[in-house]
Amino acid sequence: MFKKLLNQAIVNFELVTQSPLYIKQNTSLLDPTAFDGTYISCYLDDQRIPIIPGTSMKGVFRSFFEKMLGEEACDILDTRQDSNKCLKTIKEYEEKLKSSNKKDKTNNFDEELEKLKDFSRGKLNYYLSCPACKVFGSQRLKSRMLFDDAKAKEGFKISSRSSTPIDRISGAAKEKGLNTFEYVDWGVFEAKVTLVNFFNWQLKLLLEIFERIDEGILTFGGYSSKGFGRMKVENVTIKVRYYGEMKGKAKDGYSQNALFAERVFNNKEVKEKLQSIDFLDKNQWAKVELKDEQIL
Ligand SMILES: [Zn+2]
Repeated sequence: MFKKLLNQAIVNFELVTQSPLYIKQNTSLLDPTAFDGTYISCYLDDQRIPIIPGTSMKGVFRSFFEKMLGEEACDILDTRQDSNKCLKTIKEYEEKLKSSNKKDKTNNFDEELEKLKDFSRGKLNYYLSCPACKVFGSQRLKSRMLFDDAKAKEGFKISSRSSTPIDRISGAAKEKGLNTFEYVDWGVFEAKVTLVNFFNWQLKLLLEIFERIDEGILTFGGYSSKGFGRMKVENVTIKVRYYGEMKGKAKDGYSQNALFAERVFNNKEVKEKLQSIDFLDKNQWAKVELKDEQIL
């Protein structure tokens, strides 16, 4: 984990199906092509309860943010140090810092470099990473947004449908290869996302993603072009905790204990508090001092 815990936002919510949700069977999670991070697969565990894996949810949320960022985001699937934007930048600065540490006065004075010299390794990697890596992590950076598996509550309904592959040339249905697939007809999934050592813009991003889900822009599971996978976010509670030097600053409405100050908000309350924050603002991304962040 992080060296020092300063804050946490524990976000509990429900995902309620608005259209059928495609079920990918457990075994297909072993298929590497199925895990391209662009959609959520829903699978059944041993007791046949539909589950949206946390890793898949994270993949969908991240790819949505990457689309908004465009060129600002690195290609997380590219893990080579010389071509992935973030890994490359970190490597370049490490080399620059190394050579400037040799007290070689021939180096031009670099203001930014001077500032970075005082950064810890973790802070340096965070500062140099793209906004998507800042939130969701990378090879060199811990994720600040952690996802639990979302399990369907009792009362869900599973149905199945057969899909007949059509021969593209003759148009005739192939006799072999008739397959059935299952889907969640109706279900409420209990989901949890935890932000650790978060900046306020990162919580704002999460609330924005919730809105896009409600609008049907972000869908879950396969066959979204056929109308599958639309969901609604309901019953959001946001438990915010401040530790260490942030703890004393959390006063209004917060309850204090020996470890932390805590307050529970609903979606609307946090949205109002974060109204002036733009998660696509470069000045927000450049922040590295968590203790200076405004208390919610
Ligand atoms: Zn990156």
